[in-house]
Amino acid sequence: MTVANDLSSAQQPIATGKKGLSNGSQPQREWAIKASPVVARSKNKIRSVVAGLDLSKTQSDKPLINLGLGDPTVFGLHDPPKVALEAMQEALFSGNANGYVPGTGLREACQAVADYHKRWDGVHYTAEDVTLVSLKHNSGQAQYRTDICVIVQTHGTSHALDMCFSVLASSEQNVLIPRPGFPAYETLLGNVGCEVRYYDVLADREWECDLEAMEQQIDQDTAFILITNPSNPCGNNMTPQHLKDIVEIAERHKVPIIADEIYGHMHWSEWPFVPLASLAKSAPVLTLSGLSKRFLLPGWRFGWIALHDPLNVAGAIRNGLHAWGNRFMGPNTLVQRSLKRILTETPDSWHDEVTRKLEYNAKLAYSSLSVIPGLYCTFPTAAMYLLLGFDIKRFPEFPSDVEFCNALVQEQNLFCIPGASFSIDNHMRLVLAAPSGVLQDACERLREFCAKHYVA
Ligand SMILES: *Cc1c(COP(=O)(O)O)cnc(C)c1O
Repeated sequence: MTVANDLSSAQQPIATGKKGLSNGSQPQREWAIKASPVVARSKNKIRSVVAGLDLSKTQSDKPLINLGLGDPTVFGLHDPPKVALEAMQEALFSGNANGYVPGTGLREACQAVADYHKRWDGVHYTAEDVTLVSLKHNSGQAQYRTDICVIVQTHGTSHALDMCFSVLASSEQNVLIPRPGFPAYETLLGNVGCEVRYYDVLADREWECDLEAMEQQIDQDTAFILITNPSNPCGNNMTPQHLKDIVEIAERHKVPIIADEIYGHMHWSEWPFVPLASLAKSAPVLTLSGLSKRFLLPGWRFGWIALHDPLNVAGAIRNGLHAWGNRFMGPNTLVQRSLKRILTETPDSWHDEVTRKLEYNAKLAYSSLSVIPGLYCTFPTAAMYLLLGFDIKRFPEFPSDVEFCNALVQEQNLFCIPGASFSIDNHMRLVLAAPSGVLQDACERLREFCAKHYVA
């Protein structure tokens, strides 16, 4: 009997002793366990790029500054809304949050989401449709409903994305996503096996989408266009006119939109945040949001999908979401029971305080970094990131942003995620959700680093 405890045997089927026939009839199988090919298609680009960086071998005696994780709780930027903690505690001791609830979510939680989007986005959703799967056809004499929508509770917005991808796209179709963009899109789409097409968002146009390229890539088999606004990693809030142009393209080609608006209303731009659903006259818009960013509670794993379907053409999507919501039961009942209070009782002043801190940090980082020779960036106006570009020709020691970021860790103990993780060259992403003093220190380290390596 072979004991497979050395690494060399891990790649091979493990011998099981006797070979051949076991009980006279069945040939005995060897152990040969492989993971599904889907796993290889579902790599996370942040992890694979960052795996090449060695945080432990820094030559610096400065303390580590980690501006990598897009998690607003890392530095305790701001305390979460007090009412969230109270509501959760109340739900916990009520004895009313221990059971299963409908797979797409508790009615009261869906209604809370509908009320939230009505108040903040001016978009009307009908929570009654939440658990209805049968289509309400416009039969002519029956009353015509212009706003038939569905809301589904999910385990964070990543789960909402995963659900939308599975329901909307098949392996014969293609989908359009932004580049640079949130790496989880590709990771999750690997599971669907569809063709992933990219439209660029442009650094020299304050991260607006390349609309021409977007339109050119749409064909009969395009399942959806995904828009991230405000953007991770770009930190911009698109203008109302630009968003109208996007909706116009989707409506002309009859393609649904997935609007990842997890950073909705987290902005300090001169123009308002305009939710895509508020602009659509015919295109179905699936708005994705949740508690992870605006409410600073990513660990609570709570998000949702709201389907806005003005012409009632997306019945298949509605049915699909309902089925998918019931594949495994929706997010934990504790948060669902707390949701109404979280969404309605979090003071506006609390949101303002968070946004003011981020704006302050954006100004600080922008004013310090944009004057450093070799670096360039757009002033971030939303979300919690600054996507910093550098002129690679001025830093000839580094073949790409991965080496640049690696050297930055080695020499300055400052960690930022290289652009490669977001599919953009010669950039790195800085998280702005840190105390100003820490950010100031980070900018100073960048200045020192660039001064050392810059070649005029
Ligand atoms: C953080 C983030 C999400 C959501 O994350 P969850 O933690 O799963 O709620 C979704 N989209 C973008 C662009 C994000 O940055």
